[in-house]
Amino acid sequence: MNNLPPRTLFEKIWDKHVVQDEMDCPSVLYIDLHLVHEVTSPQAFQGLREKGLIVRQVGRTVATADHSVPTTDRSLPITDSMAANQLRQLEINCREFGIPHFGIGNPHQGIVHVIGPELGLTQPGMTIVCGDSHTATHGALGALAFGIGTTEVEHVLATQCLLQRKSKTFEVRVDGQLRSGVTSKDIILALIAKIGVGGGVGSIFEFTGSAIRALSMEARMTICNMSIEGGARAGLIAPDEITFEYLHGRPFVPKNAAWDESVKLWRQLPGDVGATYDTQVILDANKLEPMITYGTNPGMGIPITGSIPTLESLEDDSSRRALARALEYMNLSPGKRLLGHPVDVVFIGSCTNSRISDLRAAAGILKGRKVNPKVRVMVVPGSEQVKRQAKQEGLPELFRAAGCEWREPGCSMCIAMNGDELRPGQYCVSTSNRNFEGRQGIGGRTFLASPLTAAATAIEGCISDVRTLL
Ligand code: SF4
Repeated sequence: MNNLPPRTLFEKIWDKHVVQDEMDCPSVLYIDLHLVHEVTSPQAFQGLREKGLIVRQVGRTVATADHSVPTTDRSLPITDSMAANQLRQLEINCREFGIPHFGIGNPHQGIVHVIGPELGLTQPGMTIVCGDSHTATHGALGALAFGIGTTEVEHVLATQCLLQRKSKTFEVRVDGQLRSGVTSKDIILALIAKIGVGGGVGSIFEFTGSAIRALSMEARMTICNMSIEGGARAGLIAPDEITFEYLHGRPFVPKNAAWDESVKLWRQLPGDVGATYDTQVILDANKLEPMITYGTNPGMGIPITGSIPTLESLEDDSSRRALARALEYMNLSPGKRLLGHPVDVVFIGSCTNSRISDLRAAAGILKGRKVNPKVRVMVVPGSEQVKRQAKQEGLPELFRAAGCEWREPGCSMCIAMNGDELRPGQYCVSTSNRNFEGRQGIGGRTFLASPLTAAATAIEGCISDVRTLL
């Protein structure tokens, strides 16, 4: 019998990990898992070296190469010298400090937020950090996971702890049933369009409701991945039978009796009856359509059959200025529909939508069809494991037969690395998470959407409603 007041999932994980709490100071939080990649870690390792420090818990630290890896033939030399240096440095640092490293050629290599869950490194109730904004992805398994800066990477390497202020709780309740052609990507784009990119600042989203419970584990990851784009520190979904089934048998999860014991503990994580949130937003899944963005932040999104807002429809001057600037960059007009707008590139990949279920969804639309010859279509699996699974299912052949490029695993055109980038002025429908100016290449213009919408657009050569192809 405990006398604690009813707590949310976030509050339970937080309470369990606070090492020290003082009035008006950030709390000291214990970190269960630190994921490291090549871009935000070099200065942190150098800092340890200069201070004569070691990595406090190598068993709770794992590194992978993702941002800078080329997605072309891996037997070729890396032509981008900065990328090559970052990858070499990660290997050197991991060897020197004794950290497991999944570099190019390793069967576990892949995007950090894809490999964590698929290897079972990510587990319910954990605290997880990584020097990358989209660490929130791991919250789909009921882990409190957030991105940290380079200085904090060094701090966690040295101490296995992090200074954090406690966030507020924010329930995003999604009830009902998604209609055909509507996916978890559309749920999160609809949420951010509703609350804006600052709507969740200072909070942790917890996604609840019948529509969330019905989602597969990978679909849940897509939602939590983009929590940060709604301003939240992290996103969480309470673990359930779908979570346990997904995790069972993965390489790094507990085995046998230890597995049973872990599941027993994980079952206690969901919020208590009577637990309350600081804020709540409700979405009706029955009413959602496929979503697409028109502007230069992920909050500038509309249903695929909708129209770009007009300046007059906005309430304040700063929103009007932001819209005008975004539309100038995108070379789009207010009040116009996006359906039928030509695109140059379609990118299916990134830590938001490069898992096997995303590739299967796109393949289901592309099967037996050809992509429009004017469109370059890149399909980039999120990890070596996703690539192996896709091969077993014949997906690379299916994509190639449709006219797509099938690439090696990595972040790729999500962040315009290693030549995977848009040319100035090009339009791209992308399954990634950011449509900022220049994110996919200087002058490149990004429309964010689901893998289904991306596949439909690839076939038609212009922004399309996948429901017409189902
Ligand atoms: S895919 Fe994009 S958002 Fe995800 S980790 Fe890589 S660069 Fe970051």
